[in-house]
Amino acid sequence: MKYILNEQIALRSWRGVPCAYYIKNDRHAKSLSAEDFLILMSCDGKNEQDPESESIKRLSQVGFIRPAAECEELSEWQKVRFCDNRYMPISEWSITGRCNYNCLHCFMAKDNERLMSEFSWEEMLNLLDEYEKCGIQTFVITGGEPLLHPRFMDLMREISRRGMVVDDILTNGALLTEDIIHKLKDLGLNPLFSISLDGIGHHDWMRGVAGAEKTAMRAIDLCLKEGMRVRVQVCAHRLNLDTMVDTVKLMGEKGVDMIRVIRTSESPRWKENAGDACLSIEEYFDLGTELLTEFAKTGYHSELTVWQFGEYHPHAGVYYFSAVDCSGDEERDLRRPTCTGIRGSMAIASDGEVLPCNRMAGYYAGKGYSFGNAKKGGIRHLLQDSDYLNTITCPVSKVKENPTCSACKYFRYCHGGCRAIALLFYDYTGPDLSKCIFYNKGYYQKARRAFDLAAKGSGREFRCGSPVPELEEELNK
Ligand code: SF4
Ligand code: SF4
Repeated sequence: MKYILNEQIALRSWRGVPCAYYIKNDRHAKSLSAEDFLILMSCDGKNEQDPESESIKRLSQVGFIRPAAECEELSEWQKVRFCDNRYMPISEWSITGRCNYNCLHCFMAKDNERLMSEFSWEEMLNLLDEYEKCGIQTFVITGGEPLLHPRFMDLMREISRRGMVVDDILTNGALLTEDIIHKLKDLGLNPLFSISLDGIGHHDWMRGVAGAEKTAMRAIDLCLKEGMRVRVQVCAHRLNLDTMVDTVKLMGEKGVDMIRVIRTSESPRWKENAGDACLSIEEYFDLGTELLTEFAKTGYHSELTVWQFGEYHPHAGVYYFSAVDCSGDEERDLRRPTCTGIRGSMAIASDGEVLPCNRMAGYYAGKGYSFGNAKKGGIRHLLQDSDYLNTITCPVSKVKENPTCSACKYFRYCHGGCRAIALLFYDYTGPDLSKCIFYNKGYYQKARRAFDLAAKGSGREFRCGSPVPELEEELNK
């Protein structure tokens, strides 16, 4: 009997991960045994298999394969692809630097000059070819404002035609229409829309456009009406601090899937526009504690993340702290890359510059440093042997070499924190100052106590999903 791969499965092989597969909408590939990989390679609708073989029965049962129909063939996307580079599944791709807004805090820019760079259609097609060769499967599409790109919908068609996935579109919402959403659905794409809303009553000023807040609300409502997933991104700073609780509650009431609050960081552009409006780390963590606990009390179903501080998952009633990032296996943790976000996603700026993480764009642009340019030299060689590859695979053990982290009693929980924040204050393998403040100024204890109080006040139950055993005793004092 002839068998064929289930249409959601594609086989891939990379240097270091020779036997793997993607399930269509999963962000990461999973590895397979060499034996299963070989059997699956021959399930192409052409080769005869023994239906009584244990392996065929098992692989059918778990949904990898099924009997093939007459003349049925694998799609190009499903066919095994041998990639002569290290594993990389996702790209956060800024397709244009142009924007219809002029955000005061845009961290993509190194100063107040408007970004004008953009991928041409030819450059997009070339890069898609490279992505395919490298086994990159999933995209976070960003800008500038990505919907402003004249070939945006052509790009969506091309991604869909190649069997790839758009997981997330970051937009200010101004150009989002019912028609665009319907076209995406027709292409089989179901992206999350990440829409910015920087505080009720403050959004227009931050975005530099009158009516921007109304527009963002319209886009959020439109996505919800159309059954699209929505994440609302909120930038927090001293000037909009008083509206944060109301803003996240309003989004919870609307029923968005996720809310992400982010501290505006000391990017060159924001400092130029707003002086010292950045929250200190302490102010931000106080805000984070208040937002998470006030939101948890409401019972709304949105997932709330306060970037680099903590998250609350309402369905399970669980909260997590970003500064606690350990698996319980210390040796294994030391070999891990410093940031799984960086290791699993290649950031590409609108001028083609390749970055470990988009939040580092302003930093590296300001220093005039380049890891490589996707428009000029492609990306495959960067995933073979390059400074970029060394940077994204830099292990946690390297961060432990900096004197602050090596002397820190919380290292086994923290692992040095976020690399983008480390760059703001030190260098790539330096400590993330915000995590030092989290531990040394008692934010773990403060937030745990605040959640206990919130539980008493609301009659709900909350559980900490990232406990630090050393600090538990202090909680009971
Ligand atoms: S370095 Fe920080 S901002 Fe960048 S992906 Fe990692 S955790 Fe996120
Ligand atoms: S020194 Fe700071 S960044 Fe380093 S492990 Fe300790 S808390 Fe984390």
